[in-house]
Amino acid sequence: MSMFRMGVGYDVHRLVSERPLILGGIEIPFHQGLAGHSDADVLSHALGDALLGAVGLGDLGRLFPDSDPRYKGISSLRLLERIIFLIHQKGYRVGNVDSTVVAQEPKLAPHVQKMQTVLAPVLQVPADQISIKATTSEGLGFAGRQEGIAAYAVVLLVKADT
Ligand code: MG
Repeated sequence: MSMFRMGVGYDVHRLVSERPLILGGIEIPFHQGLAGHSDADVLSHALGDALLGAVGLGDLGRLFPDSDPRYKGISSLRLLERIIFLIHQKGYRVGNVDSTVVAQEPKLAPHVQKMQTVLAPVLQVPADQISIKATTSEGLGFAGRQEGIAAYAVVLLVKADT
């Protein structure tokens, strides 16, 4: 069994009216939100895919299909909790995570600390092991046109008994 395992995740959701904007487990005041079957928390989804990838368990879509009414409107934090349970079962714990959210608006920097505080107990790591960065795409592409928000994440898992 390897001492370390790493994973990478990427997700995109479309921005629409009349949905709350949920990112990193918190609601961010904005005139648009992300469309999706769950709460469409694109950052949590990228983290979830990275975590699943690290232990070779596929992806969020395989574990929590869009077609399953149990996951309609669900907080993505509940999905992350389930993934962390599976990772612990595999004998690993989260070492650290790094992520980047690509959004033209709103400004995310003022919200990062709260996201870290909310994600820490879910991922079962200290908040300072959760890095969340934000960037615009300089007005280019779907994120720049404010059609959607993208998120990238990488995770490092460490053998649980170390
Ligand atoms: Mg998603």
